[in-house]
Amino acid sequence: MKEFAPGKINLALRVGKRRADGFHDVDMVMQSISLADTITLEEAPTLTLTIDSSALPCDERNLAYQAALVFEKWTKIKPAVHIHIQKRIYLAAGLAGGSADAAGVLRILNRYYGKPLSRGQLEEAAAEIGSDVPFCIAGGTQRALGRGELMRPLPPSPTLWMVLAKPAALGVSTAEVYRALDGVKDRKETDTDACVAALEHHDTKALLSALNNDLEAVTLEKVPFLVALKEAMLRLGAEKAMMSGSGPTVFGLVKDEETACRLKEKLRETFSQDLLLDVACTEEEYYG
Ligand code: ATP
Repeated sequence: MKEFAPGKINLALRVGKRRADGFHDVDMVMQSISLADTITLEEAPTLTLTIDSSALPCDERNLAYQAALVFEKWTKIKPAVHIHIQKRIYLAAGLAGGSADAAGVLRILNRYYGKPLSRGQLEEAAAEIGSDVPFCIAGGTQRALGRGELMRPLPPSPTLWMVLAKPAALGVSTAEVYRALDGVKDRKETDTDACVAALEHHDTKALLSALNNDLEAVTLEKVPFLVALKEAMLRLGAEKAMMSGSGPTVFGLVKDEETACRLKEKLRETFSQDLLLDVACTEEEYYG
């Protein structure tokens, strides 16, 4: 069996107060993108996991492995399968790669064992693994509140083509970025309602002007190269450029696939730094 595990970008990311449990309240618009990992499942005597990336462990430290254990806890079914993950989503990049894999493993195990869990139960189980995992169960376009686990469906975003760019050697710890945000004085919070209204009115222009991410205040300050990357994207033809999640991935939105491919090449020519570059879009048919 095979399952796609799409990454996400945030169209809006507003961070509220730090809560007693250490998490922050958020109000985000999350959007699946066509940059996806691929998960395959085969029958096996016991649970095993392999990944085509040597940077990731294949044991309980891996969110995909944790997902298989959570599935067992919820269903009392001991998975006897071999799971393999082909990684394409950049690591520690603000694209929810680990969460996407965890959600993909929950989905594929549920399918393999005859759907013992409903979608609601899958989302609840997913919340035990991480804040972004419930969103990744169904993906698409959703508003996420609480610590990210309380979701409301939104009308799908218009098709947005983009170039994703991430300095190859740079990863960011989401927890550290949230901690650092508490120290930022007088910050202006993202207007998530404006983003939601633009989606409800299918208004691409309003959507582009509503895009905003509170976490840029921390990561762009820490990594000035990302400011240069955003500026270059705008100079080279992107209509809007923004960081996804806690970064460091930056996405530049353009009008179509051809323009995205051209922007990707121009970025490769402009920077000597080793950049991971991909063209992606928000259209469902491309991510599974
Ligand atoms: P988010 O946007 O949800 O904060 P991210 O894109 O910033 O996520 P991930 O790529 O999900 O970050 O990785 C965060 C950490 O999770 C990494 O440091 C990595 O070691 C760990 N991890 C565990 N399992 C996985 C997995 N299957 N894929 C990627 N990272 C994983």
